[in-house]
Amino acid sequence: MGLNVRAFTRQHIVAIAVGVLVAGTPLIAFNFWLGGVIERQGQAETEAAARRMISLGEQRVGEVVRALDDLAARGVTACDPVNAEAMQRAAFNTAPIKEVAIVARGGQTLCTHFNVSLADAVGSSGTAGPSFDQRRVLSSEALGGNGYSLDVIGFGDGDRMVRLRHPAGDGPNEIAALMPATFLLPQATAKSDRLYSYIHVATRAGAAIGESGERPDDATDMFVATRRSDKFGFNVVVMTQRGRTIAGNVDLKWLGLFVTVIVVVILAAFGMMVPKSLPNNPVAELERALKAGEFVPYYQPIVDIQSGKLRGAEVLVRWRKPDGTLVLPGSFIPLAESSGLIRAMTFDLMRRVCVEAGAAIGQRPALKISFNFAGALFSDETIVRDVGRTFAGTPIKLSQVVLEVTERDPIENFTLTRQVIAALQGLGVRIAIDDVGTGHSGLSYMLKLGVDIIKIDKMFVDAIGTDRNSTTIVETLVDLAHNMRMDVVAEGVENFEQVMHLRNLGVRSAQGYVFAPPLPGSSFLQLIEAMDTLGSEAEGSLATPARVAAA
Ligand code: C2E
Ligand code: CA
Ligand code: CA
Repeated sequence: MGLNVRAFTRQHIVAIAVGVLVAGTPLIAFNFWLGGVIERQGQAETEAAARRMISLGEQRVGEVVRALDDLAARGVTACDPVNAEAMQRAAFNTAPIKEVAIVARGGQTLCTHFNVSLADAVGSSGTAGPSFDQRRVLSSEALGGNGYSLDVIGFGDGDRMVRLRHPAGDGPNEIAALMPATFLLPQATAKSDRLYSYIHVATRAGAAIGESGERPDDATDMFVATRRSDKFGFNVVVMTQRGRTIAGNVDLKWLGLFVTVIVVVILAAFGMMVPKSLPNNPVAELERALKAGEFVPYYQPIVDIQSGKLRGAEVLVRWRKPDGTLVLPGSFIPLAESSGLIRAMTFDLMRRVCVEAGAAIGQRPALKISFNFAGALFSDETIVRDVGRTFAGTPIKLSQVVLEVTERDPIENFTLTRQVIAALQGLGVRIAIDDVGTGHSGLSYMLKLGVDIIKIDKMFVDAIGTDRNSTTIVETLVDLAHNMRMDVVAEGVENFEQVMHLRNLGVRSAQGYVFAPPLPGSSFLQLIEAMDTLGSEAEGSLATPARVAAA
């Protein structure tokens, strides 16, 4: 079944190539496009996060600035109980503010809105009150063009606060407010999804205000966005891991997965279906037809033109398609031979003949049944065994079997071919040379094969009576055959004149439309019954050609 493997492989290569082209190209393009979209969207989302943080930060800082401006306008600059209410109201009403404080020019907290009077009671030492001594001013710089100062305050526990100080007028103290650094570090995206980014916020001068997320060791695989607040000067850096789910990409990933699955399904369907259905895969079609039993034998009678009796038939294959059309061998035998399918086809045909006409032929030992045998089959020794097995146990005896080897097929291994022919003859099978005079091998070469029958091609039969050379050739062939004890069969005999000429030239047997075309099994069986009645010697004369219509 080397053929099967070969055909199968070729089909799959075609199918895979088609599948890859049809489905693969768009897939690659799609993935490329999707990759670009994800890349752009990842970068855009990171930029958007940075922009959002700047605007959120500006908004919160702005609120604090407004509250402090208001307190300053009211003249709140000392740790005086009369200021307590204004300070407390500012702390309560301004969301980002955690604490309003009066600080000394050196930055030291004097009192807060919690304990204005307490602080006032201990004077300006700043040692009383809620652990002011645990606060450390980590950095201090101008906030923007508005005269405010921005301090980053560190607490003992590592927390950081941002302190804004209203510019002091002529007085010794300043009014200040604290907001947590985390107010400048939102933990969620605009859609309230968890933000899987590293965020770093710093002052204009570069002092760290705070960070959130895990600081990446390496920024190469990150989307990075950097922004600065025009108003207040603080900087934001946002880094998002590539491939890390940013909200919008979840949908895109599903889309990508979905499309990939669809494409894989299409590819698989191609892989499975195309080899079976590809119309331009004729070998597979032949194989299918062989399995389906669409190759059937037709039988062309061979007649003894001396006695008028039926001598046998040549089996000619026909492809009977499911729709009833009959295909002649010329359009598929060459492919069957080149693909190697011919062997299986020939043996299938032999078995069909045994089943269909075996009984009728077997009962009449004088009838011969001829099969066309591709030249290549004769260079395979196993053919001898297979021919023997095919007819063993059937009514047809091997002595009734004729195998035709055409002169058209070149003989590749002469010695082997001769051995195979001799072995077949040993079984009782007879060998005929077909299409004599039309091939390249030459008759003398073919005769060295030790054959039993020569079949004179229609070409010479047609020329009889019109071309003297042709008559001479037929005469020579007949003489040669007689000398070598071979039989002669004339092919393609179409009219009575030709029959007469051939008879006068000493040709014994003939086949052709003048007697009958190749017949389907049922018609051939009727013909046998009519012409070769069992036990009757006198029957079966074809002196007047029997016109048997092909059914
Ligand atoms: P072939 O072996 O020379 O067979 C004779 C061809 O001549 C047949 O054509 C037959 O139908 C046709 N023929 C018979 N009498 C006449 C006639 O009076 N006039 C004309 N014009 N033609 C006639 P077919 O059946 O089409 O077969 C063509 C060829 O296909 C065969 O030539 C043979 O070489 C090949 N073939 C047929 N069956 C098989 C097969 O089972 N195995 C192989 N290997 N080859 C086959
Ligand atoms: Ca033939
Ligand atoms: Ca022939």
